[in-house]
Amino acid sequence: MRLNVVNYGHPALRQRGARIEAVTPEIQSLAANMIETMHAAHGIGLAGQQVAKPLQIFVLDLREVSDRPSTLEWEGEPANIADRMPMVLINPEVTPLDGITDTGPEGCLSFPEIFAEKITRPASVRVTAWNERGEIIRFACGGLLARAVQHEHDHLRGILFIDRMTSAERRRWQPELDALQDATRTELQKGQIMQRESLGDWKRIV
Ligand code: ZN
Repeated sequence: MRLNVVNYGHPALRQRGARIEAVTPEIQSLAANMIETMHAAHGIGLAGQQVAKPLQIFVLDLREVSDRPSTLEWEGEPANIADRMPMVLINPEVTPLDGITDTGPEGCLSFPEIFAEKITRPASVRVTAWNERGEIIRFACGGLLARAVQHEHDHLRGILFIDRMTSAERRRWQPELDALQDATRTELQKGQIMQRESLGDWKRIV
């Protein structure tokens, strides 16, 4: 089932995700729905916050990208990225591998039509997480995969890619960001009014 992806201005995007204590059927179904939603939107990653579920979970699938290379070492062995996609990461711990950084472009499904040209992040990271079966997985990665992991891991802590834009880029996008935030808040208010009205109807009927 496709989920609704929330845009900048929705409070869930600034919430720290709660730790998932057990991979229940509900969590497995959330993960499957997040993968379906990410594929439908042609995204390469999606975090719980983006579907208004502030939990420590994100999904990735890089198979559609051919022009931005990645590296992957799975449990210490070089691995084929396509074999591991789509990927579900629960309660992930992400640590930079060394002091080398990489600057590159980024976008986000919660920021339609807004793109950063220069986001600087560690070039490679080590990751420990649970998969969708609750098994512990460990891998090291570089390139686009490392960037995607860090972008999604940021979401789990309420951090957004606009927080990592250069100040010049952020200034340039500020009018679009303000407009998106206003539009999202207006939608939310309308939704709340509709909810109240439908509750009123229900009370009248009973
Ligand atoms: Zn994002």
